[in-house]
Amino acid sequence: MFACDTDRVPGPSDERDRDSVVYLDHAATTPLRPEARAAMLDWLGGRFGNPSGAHRVARAARRAVDEARDVVADVVGCRPGEVIFTSGGTEADNLAVLGAHAARPGRVVASAIEHEAVLAAVAQVDGSLVAVDRSGRIDIEALDAVLGPDVSVVSVMAANNEVGTIQPIGEVAELVRRRAPDAVLHTDAVQAAAWLDLHEVAAAADLVAISSHKVGGPQGVGALVARGGVPLRARALGGGQERELRSGTHDVAGIVGFAAALAAAAAEREAERRRVAALRDRLAAGLAAVVPGLVDTVGGVTACPQLPGTLHVCVPGVESDALLFLLDEAGVCASAASACASGAQQASHVLAAMGVPAEAARGALRLSLGWTTTDDDVDAALAVVPAAVARLREAAA
Ligand code: PLP
Repeated sequence: MFACDTDRVPGPSDERDRDSVVYLDHAATTPLRPEARAAMLDWLGGRFGNPSGAHRVARAARRAVDEARDVVADVVGCRPGEVIFTSGGTEADNLAVLGAHAARPGRVVASAIEHEAVLAAVAQVDGSLVAVDRSGRIDIEALDAVLGPDVSVVSVMAANNEVGTIQPIGEVAELVRRRAPDAVLHTDAVQAAAWLDLHEVAAAADLVAISSHKVGGPQGVGALVARGGVPLRARALGGGQERELRSGTHDVAGIVGFAAALAAAAAEREAERRRVAALRDRLAAGLAAVVPGLVDTVGGVTACPQLPGTLHVCVPGVESDALLFLLDEAGVCASAASACASGAQQASHVLAAMGVPAEAARGALRLSLGWTTTDDDVDAALAVVPAAVARLREAAA
């Protein structure tokens, strides 16, 4: 539980401390880590400079960007020259799919549960989608069937943002190399970056997208890692920054904050995986014990590997919107699917692809934990969620 400024308007019955929030939406964005804030402060105050310039102020800014690039490369296990800084995960995914397709046209294939940043790009080049199983893992046989020498880009995310399912990216890579040897394999590691060893992810894929704000860095910055020799055509054209692959003046403060956050997340990863998975499991078990009919959407964490911070459930007889409203009123921030610009809940393409019945999907609830989550947060959620569900069910009876 942590103090946070919200724009909530206090009502007459609002007894809760308005500044105390139980934040269980880390998959949407996670709070800024102190290491990131400290790294950024200099560049938000006295220090500045355009890294593309030639004088000493510019050179100092370029050094900061280059040092950040070294840090990102070290965490990902690639060469610094393979890191392309972007404005975030969305731009990295767009550049990966559309840039690789533009460089080498051919068929584009992606899993059906990709983030919209990939799906929209795949749709733009008339790509096709591959089915997933009931737990959200890509159907390897279906992927095998759709691959061929005319495929130029394959995109399979490292871990899903809604349900947390981890994809067998090594197995996917092996299949792609065999069945579509000229294809570029892209993986969206935006949700995986805080939890998985990126060396393993980057060893399997040619292109890897990561986003700063999912690891405790600032919003609006990220990177596409493009392994040496991967054909890629720029989407943002202009001054030729980032080896001509992403023009635009660098966000120096954002980039140094991103690198600091990624390094901090990587340093804590093993311990945090265990700590957060234990919290998540306690939350899952606690909810299952007291909320009648609650369904663990992926069929339990033993069904398939899952991110440690994600708990996705479906609550029969309850509408997600109404549940989220009551949770928010009680100070618990959660979500139903991925965050979208309008804030409106739409039917989840991920749940539909997994074969979750529409009726069950209406009661979807994603509780995502992260580096600031504590036992107190879990206790609070275990008190608030069952009460909110009971209230909605009573009202509907
Ligand atoms: N890919 C995945 C899996 C995500 O979860 C997100 C953000 O929710 C994105 C891409 C987009 O990243 P960004 O918010 O940095 O544009």
